[in-house]
Amino acid sequence: MQPRDLSDHSPYVPGRGVEEVARELGIDPDSLIKLSSNENPHGPSPAAVEAIEEHADRVHQYPKSSHTDLTARIAEKWEVDPEQVWVSPGADGSIDYLSRAALEPDDEVLVPAPGFAYYAMSARYHHATVSEYALSAENGFLQTAETVLNAYGGERIVYLTSPHNPSGSTISLDSIRTIADATAEETLVVVDEAYGEFSDVDSAVPLVTERDDVAVLRTFSKAYGLAGLRIGYSVVPEEWGGAYARVNTPFAANELACRAALAALDDEEHVEKSVETARWAREYISEELDAETFDSAGNFVLARVGDGSAVAEAAKREGVIIRDCTSFGLPECVRISTGTREETPEAVDRLNETLADLELGVEA
Ligand SMILES: *Cc1c(COP(=O)(O)O)cnc(C)c1O
Repeated sequence: MQPRDLSDHSPYVPGRGVEEVARELGIDPDSLIKLSSNENPHGPSPAAVEAIEEHADRVHQYPKSSHTDLTARIAEKWEVDPEQVWVSPGADGSIDYLSRAALEPDDEVLVPAPGFAYYAMSARYHHATVSEYALSAENGFLQTAETVLNAYGGERIVYLTSPHNPSGSTISLDSIRTIADATAEETLVVVDEAYGEFSDVDSAVPLVTERDDVAVLRTFSKAYGLAGLRIGYSVVPEEWGGAYARVNTPFAANELACRAALAALDDEEHVEKSVETARWAREYISEELDAETFDSAGNFVLARVGDGSAVAEAAKREGVIIRDCTSFGLPECVRISTGTREETPEAVDRLNETLADLELGVEA
């Protein structure tokens, strides 16, 4: 017996992990600099770690009040009704919840190319089909209402990513408003702000309050440093609030994740430090890397290096793990996550050596 035909479903390709690469190269994991998954180089908020330790002996119980408290705290932060906050296992979980809530079989979704793979994956699990709007390296992956609307054909969901992964480009609130105005009444515009904290662009959450056709995704995986716990949320239109109980996988956001997220939200110092470091490091990488880079509002920089997979492979041998962007449809690019003030210059040095060696045809 076989699973159903999954040939349309491309597998998600994650960035390589430190242990995995160290084992492959037979070296000490501590000598590696991992800049491949846009994780927080400062680690989790210390307050979150404390909350996890404090609640560890209560994980025999289903998460109830922690989930309620986190939902209320997020609602307060964004000045929305708690029903409009859909807490989920990562923002990826919210993508699934929105698919469950919105998509009928054969509905369509519109996604950016290049772009975050999970939008299309989730749509296909829910028997929807996927069309794309193209963002182009030639204009710095500029996101305008026109780019999206030219490709729009009445899809049920339109995904916007701001800052965009893997390029780091953003889209303005005005453009989002224009898109939401121009699309059909039954089209939900989902603005993915997984990297929102790192950007100067205003959040689209006020649009969720203003209108009934915009939702926003947010996560604790990036600026808050809680990627391993899997916790995120969406802010949905008021009329959608009641659907959560029908689409949420029961207790999917776990007790420790909810507790840690609650603590992290109040640890402003940690977020501020994380954002400050990322802003510094993305400037540093753009200025010092011997390759063309794209302006980024996220905690990563996309660089055009020629043969992305050869550079990522050679960099790994120099002890720097970066993201080959072939799976994003950008085989000539790599994506470099921002590291700490100590590791970023070291990584850029090693990457520049790698680039020089490859140029000279030297085997690393
Ligand atoms: C990392 C990321 C997410 C969500 O990640 P989770 O860990 O599931 O919260 C969503 N969208 C984009 C574009 C991302 O890069």
